[in-house]
Amino acid sequence: MAYDPNNIFARILRGELPCKTVYEDEHVLAFSDIRPLADVHVLVIPKGAYVSLDDFTAGAGPEVVGHFFKVVGEIARITGVAETGYRIISNIGAHGHQEVPHLHVHVIGGRPLGRMLP
Ligand code: IMP
Repeated sequence: MAYDPNNIFARILRGELPCKTVYEDEHVLAFSDIRPLADVHVLVIPKGAYVSLDDFTAGAGPEVVGHFFKVVGEIARITGVAETGYRIISNIGAHGHQEVPHLHVHVIGGRPLGRMLP
């Protein structure tokens, strides 16, 4: 799937739409999900134009991918959920029910989340 430069997260990255920033550096932005599923629900996105984890892990270098996941862990510590536990989710493509076509990892916590897989 080709990257759509007008997807909502690309527009957030360009400053065209607002977001509640939790963390930002040269390569990564993390912000609160607009429809939170728990007390903590943060989306972590790369600043590069990647549709999903699929093209990110295929196309980005190991330093970039490694830094991204270091930030995911840092978000859990910043928000306090690292102590009690949390869930990370990245929906990919049609079967993964991905709605926004810019790679994002959900960091969700702050309450018991229950069993996800049967
Ligand atoms: P997914 O693509 O299904 O993994 O989820 C997209 C997520 O983006 C949903 O949890 C939405 O609530 C969230 N979302 C959509 N638009 C915005 C926004 O403008 N700001 C923050 N979160 C958003």
